[in-house]
Amino acid sequence: MQLTSATPLLRRALAARYAIGGFNVQTLEMVQAVVETAQEERSPVILQFNPANIQHVGMAYAAALGRVAAAAVSVPVVLHLDHGADFTQAAAALRAGFTSLMYDGTPYPLEQNIAITTQVCQMAHAVGVSVEGEIGQMGGEEEGVFTAQGAGAMTDPQEALQYVEETGVDALAIAVGNTHGMRAATGSLDMKRITAVRERVELPLVIHGGSGVSDAAVREAIARGVCKFNVATQLNQGFLLGFQRSLQAHPDTTNPRAALAAAREQVKEAVRARMRLFGSSGKA
Ligand SMILES: [Zn+2]
Repeated sequence: MQLTSATPLLRRALAARYAIGGFNVQTLEMVQAVVETAQEERSPVILQFNPANIQHVGMAYAAALGRVAAAAVSVPVVLHLDHGADFTQAAAALRAGFTSLMYDGTPYPLEQNIAITTQVCQMAHAVGVSVEGEIGQMGGEEEGVFTAQGAGAMTDPQEALQYVEETGVDALAIAVGNTHGMRAATGSLDMKRITAVRERVELPLVIHGGSGVSDAAVREAIARGVCKFNVATQLNQGFLLGFQRSLQAHPDTTNPRAALAAAREQVKEAVRARMRLFGSSGKA
C-alpha cells in the first residue's frame, strides 16, 4: 500500500479502544522488522524517525525506506516525523514524503509553541498530512531529542484544551508520568490526569516512552482513550541483543549479515509483543 496519514487510523483506534504503535527505527533491518511484523499481525503501524535517526540515515533515505516498506505490505503504514524540532524540519520531512509530522514545541513558552504548531498544521493539512503536538514536559532522555530539564511539568488539562483549539492538531502527546529511554517496562501513569485531558480533548492521545510503561498501565491508559504509544528503547534493546548474541556465537565471522538478521528477528519479537498488548493485532 501507499503510505497513509495517521488521522483516520488513530480515530478508528480511539473509537474501538486499542492503540497503534509508533515504532522508532534507525536501520533498514528495523524498518523491515516493523512492517513484516505488522503484516504478520494484520496490524496498522506507524514507522517513525526522530531527528537523530534522520541525521543517521539521511532524510531522503528515511523517506525512501518508508515508501518501500509500505509498498511491501498490505496493512496501512504511516511514515511519521517524531519530535520535529522546528518548522524547517517539518517542511523538509513533508517534502520528502512523510505522511505524519510531530512538532515538539515543549521547550518553548505556550504561546510560541501554539504559534509554530499552528504554522506546521496549516502546511501539513494543505496536503492531507496529520500533525501530532505535545503539551507538558516529559522527563528522561532520548538520544537527539530535547526533553524537559529536571522532572518536567505534567500536562495541564486546561492548557491542553487551549493548545488543541488554537492549533488544529490531529493528535496530542501528553506528559502523565511517562519517561523517555526507560530500560524496563515498570512505569505507571497518572490515570486521573489522562481522564481529565480526555474530558476536555476529543483527539487521539499519545504517550511517548511506551517502552517504560507497565502492561497494566498500558491497558488502563487505552481504556481511558490513549490510542498511540511510541516505542523506541525496546526495539533498540532487541536489535543490540540479537546482534550481540550472534557475534558471541560466531566470534570469528567476517560477515555482518548473520548478526543483522538476528537483530532483525529480535526487533520483530519486541514489535509483536507491543502490538498484541496494544490490541492493534488483527485490526488491519
Ligand atoms: Zn518522544
